[in-house]
Amino acid sequence: MANKRISKSQFMKGLQCHKHLWLYNYRKDLIPPVPEDVQVRFDEGHVVGALAREYFNGGKLVDCDYQQLPEAIKQTREFIESSTKIIYESTFVFNNVLVRADILKKNTDGTWDLIEVKSTTEVKDEHYPDVAIQKYVIEGAGLKINKAWLMHINNQFVKDGPIDPKGFFTKEDISAEVADLKDETVQNLEAFMEVLAAAKVPDIGIGRHCSSPYECEFSGHCWKDIPEYSIYDIPRLKWDKKDALKDMGILRFRDVPEDFPLNDGQLLYLRVEKTGKAVIEKTEIAEFLGELTYPLYYIDFETIMPAVPLYEGSRPYQQIPFQLSLHIQAKPGAAVRHLEFLGDAKTDPRPGLARFMVDNIGPKGSLLAYNASFEASRIKELAETFPASEDALVRLVAQIKDLMKPFRSRAYVHPHFHGRYSIKKVLPALIPDMTYEGLAVANGGDAQLAYFNMISGKLTKAEMEQTAKDLKIYCGQDTLAMVKIVEHLIGIV
Ligand code: SF4
Repeated sequence: MANKRISKSQFMKGLQCHKHLWLYNYRKDLIPPVPEDVQVRFDEGHVVGALAREYFNGGKLVDCDYQQLPEAIKQTREFIESSTKIIYESTFVFNNVLVRADILKKNTDGTWDLIEVKSTTEVKDEHYPDVAIQKYVIEGAGLKINKAWLMHINNQFVKDGPIDPKGFFTKEDISAEVADLKDETVQNLEAFMEVLAAAKVPDIGIGRHCSSPYECEFSGHCWKDIPEYSIYDIPRLKWDKKDALKDMGILRFRDVPEDFPLNDGQLLYLRVEKTGKAVIEKTEIAEFLGELTYPLYYIDFETIMPAVPLYEGSRPYQQIPFQLSLHIQAKPGAAVRHLEFLGDAKTDPRPGLARFMVDNIGPKGSLLAYNASFEASRIKELAETFPASEDALVRLVAQIKDLMKPFRSRAYVHPHFHGRYSIKKVLPALIPDMTYEGLAVANGGDAQLAYFNMISGKLTKAEMEQTAKDLKIYCGQDTLAMVKIVEHLIGIV
């Protein structure tokens, strides 16, 4: 059988797992639709790619999509022959591998520099083989590569007016690392061709490789027989132990033998799982509640992390709070009052949000957040960015208490937590009639996506209103959930 042609992305799939490469070629029907949040990252990748072309401006784009590869190869050849100095998306095939290089730049001695653009903020291990296969193919097609570069986002960049690509990116010379991979690249390629020539899917079990370095698109297929609460859910259990349990034929957490080497926390979860009985340390919970002073302010932020900063003074991937829900309880047993802030999706939400907090949260009382270090960090960043509100915001940080504390310290472990202590796990276990199921925005990822959609300008007025409503319902549920959890804890002690 003639060798199949693979692309660079298939080469990377093969490196992660031979089965992934095989399934991608013969069972594409098993790939689920691309989730919307992944699509947002793709879109951001295109924006980053466009900025990279501004960095190396004056080049020519091979303007053909993946349906027009012969045309792309032909155009690339024409650009090279017409002495083009910079080419974007140049396309080559050699030895049954197809690659498209983000940027090729010609040097005065006739050699070329290969520049791969990534939306990460550092060079990662998986970037070296990615560039090595490109170099192998481009050189095989007849060009001489002088240097190989990885251009990634500079996480120290601060937006000050229009994005300056020279400050936004950092370029790192990875020529030596790429050269070291030359033989390995050829060997891997040969192995991949053998995998693809086989009639049967490679016999490879699940493991750490399913999510590292990338989340595999066939997880839904390969993991379908794993029970709901399995050995893979045991908190912080190392992969060698997971593999050992799998080799023993043990998949359900409750089937793990008590003498299997687990740490104290894991053993406690195992005991709760086997007995189905919650562990409740009332003294510790009472101590936590004793630290709270009224009025209680329950807060929850929603944030976005744009790769390309949207607002002045912000950095790439900075967490930008755009929404805050606030429930206030003046004294024990009193009715709660709800207030909320949501950005308008047109301007920087942070000044309004900072003002909202300062205006509505008094200097006395505890500020309760779930996983409070996140909220504390956001408030500190707001204080640094908006000096006019600095003192009032710093004061808020001192008032913060973390409602996650009794759950993280395992003072309260419920069998339905399944080894987790996020509010999404704790709430339905403690307050069964309050769940996130059925909400249009049901988690932080949904909320980010919803606000990105609002920012995009693609929503109609009615869609904008509905999205804002969905966001408010979700964020309000998070703080109301905290109110109910505190009530539940008070009821226990
Ligand atoms: S889910 Fe895991 S085992 Fe299955 S193809 Fe992907 S990486 Fe390979």
